Amino acid sequence: MNNNKTTAVILASGGLDSFLCWYIFEQDALNIFVDIGHKYVRKERAALRNLQNQIPNFKVIEHSGSQIGPLEDNASGIIPNRNAELILGASAYGESIYFGVIKDEINSDKSPEFINAIEDVLNISNRKQYWTEGKTYRILTPAMEYNKTDLIKMYLAQGGSVAHLELTVSCYSDTEQHCGECPSCFKRWVAFKNNNIPFATLNDPMLFAHKHNIIEKCTNGTYTNDRANEIMAAIENNAK
Ligand SMILES: [Zn+2]
Repeated sequence: MNNNKTTAVILASGGLDSFLCWYIFEQDALNIFVDIGHKYVRKERAALRNLQNQIPNFKVIEHSGSQIGPLEDNASGIIPNRNAELILGASAYGESIYFGVIKDEINSDKSPEFINAIEDVLNISNRKQYWTEGKTYRILTPAMEYNKTDLIKMYLAQGGSVAHLELTVSCYSDTEQHCGECPSCFKRWVAFKNNNIPFATLNDPMLFAHKHNIIEKCTNGTYTNDRANEIMAAIENNAK
């Protein structure tokens, strides 16, 4: 191989975080969508197709991964080993892998230990051998020090379009429209509200907030201060 330049790829779900990470930090990255047979796959694929149609340099590659989607935990919406599967899938297309982890995420498969470990797995598996020059992988998480509200602010400040943002999908339900009652919809609502962007949902996200005692979690130390402040600001904006 003569080409020493590593290709940048980004794990893309059609969601807010991966799109903002692409727009703000690396617009040369190819968006890699890994189909793991999850229940909202159609919605995500449609979002990526819409973004690709609207934004000339937004390129998407679809990869078929292991069909682990049905292993999803119904209560939390977590699919075990999801991010390992996505990163291994994306590694087929580039060695600089952007992973849209943001601030205050608590899933262990988004933690710094996980990121270092999966980078090690890739680099050990792809070591130089007598039959190959080997590959060196890097997992990049430039959005890690920002929350969704900050990232949307940065996006808008860089000239990002609200219409493009609205093409993204952040919802764990298989409904056509954003359901408004899953954790993902609630987080999106918070960030949109804090940036004065309207967000149409099937159900009022405040019902989700009450059902899951979100205000209590903001005040009793369950959430980090940053996360609590982000959520409380949205709730206050909503009450105005
Ligand atoms: Zn939802």
